[in-house]
Amino acid sequence: MKVVLQNLTKIFPSRNKKAGGEVVAVNDFTFEIPDGKLIGLLGPSGCGKSTTLYMISGLQKPTGGKIFFGDDDVTELSTENRGIGLVFQNYALYPHLTVKQNILVPLQNLKGENKLSKQEMLERAYEVARLVQIDELMDRKPGELSGGQQQRVAIARALVKMPRVLLLDEPLSNLDARLRLQTREEIRRIQRETGITTVFVTHDQEEAMSISDMIVVMKLGVVQQTGKPQEVYDNPTNLFVAKFLGTPPINVFNGSIKGGKLFLGDSAVLDVPELEDRENVYVGIRPEGFVVDPNGPLSCDLSSLEVMGRDVSVVSRHAASINPVIRSIVDADNKIDPTSPTINYSLKRHKVFIFDGETEERIYFEV
Ligand code: ATP
Repeated sequence: MKVVLQNLTKIFPSRNKKAGGEVVAVNDFTFEIPDGKLIGLLGPSGCGKSTTLYMISGLQKPTGGKIFFGDDDVTELSTENRGIGLVFQNYALYPHLTVKQNILVPLQNLKGENKLSKQEMLERAYEVARLVQIDELMDRKPGELSGGQQQRVAIARALVKMPRVLLLDEPLSNLDARLRLQTREEIRRIQRETGITTVFVTHDQEEAMSISDMIVVMKLGVVQQTGKPQEVYDNPTNLFVAKFLGTPPINVFNGSIKGGKLFLGDSAVLDVPELEDRENVYVGIRPEGFVVDPNGPLSCDLSSLEVMGRDVSVVSRHAASINPVIRSIVDADNKIDPTSPTINYSLKRHKVFIFDGETEERIYFEV
């Protein structure tokens, strides 16, 4: 089931009339989520991702715009009638009910022609329990489960009504690092097996990149960029997106363009013959964009080396760097002398992005 968001807008009125200042939580969001795909809604706290999810769920009414599930306009439909499954960060299970009873609740609430027999309900409950691999735990209470298991129960409960769309709001936030990894792979598997169109909200870029077919990066209610995770990483449209994606994060420098060359401080690091002179630009260089090269044009003060097995993380400094240190990731085959005061780099063109010094929008050059 494809989901279409058309000029979706949500404005929260100001609580304090005198102080004014309504909040535009989501601003004119248009996007088509293809059938059967998993979309990651991504952005820092307050960017409007949960509000977007709640509008898709029907828990919040848009101030403007429309939502379609397939060809159905669901904008005015109540949450119960949308055919969605919702999973929250805090699981929201009934503590006094067993796992089985928790999963059965949505089916027991079905009315009229949708009503199921007891036998049918149990079959469905066991089917989803097997899918999320909790069928051995059906007689336990939520308090007797680990966080990861509780989240699986919540997912089973969301799936048992065979929703048209599955909505996940920071579902992994309450789990420890190892369980997060495991559960996110589980969610991916379940989503692939069921083929249910899924929207996944997170502020964790790594999480979103690793499981999403497409990501939507938001900032202050405005969509910054949409696309496949790798495409967005390789081709950020502005400085915000470039900085938001990637671990370690992108290195940002103050730069300038003079006579067809890109300068970081006094060092001409790249030929950009098609670009006009500019006093102030931001230059983003991905950690993997640095090549150790004794004759390279970018000379940095070497601070330390962190060996990571296959790769080495090099920490260095440069006067034009905006961050206190530059982190580059280079192949461990590079024999770097840790006692050397400096390290020289040449740069991989396709790992270097130039942004306007004021608007922070990308300035493109031939790669
Ligand atoms: P987080 O990751 O912290 O949950 P988010 O990206 O999900 O953040 P939203 O919860 O969608 O962000 O909030 C977007 C903006 O709308 C924020 O500025 C928030 O303060 C505001 N907001 C959200 N809900 C309400 C509300 N009920 N009344 C007024 N303002 C609200």
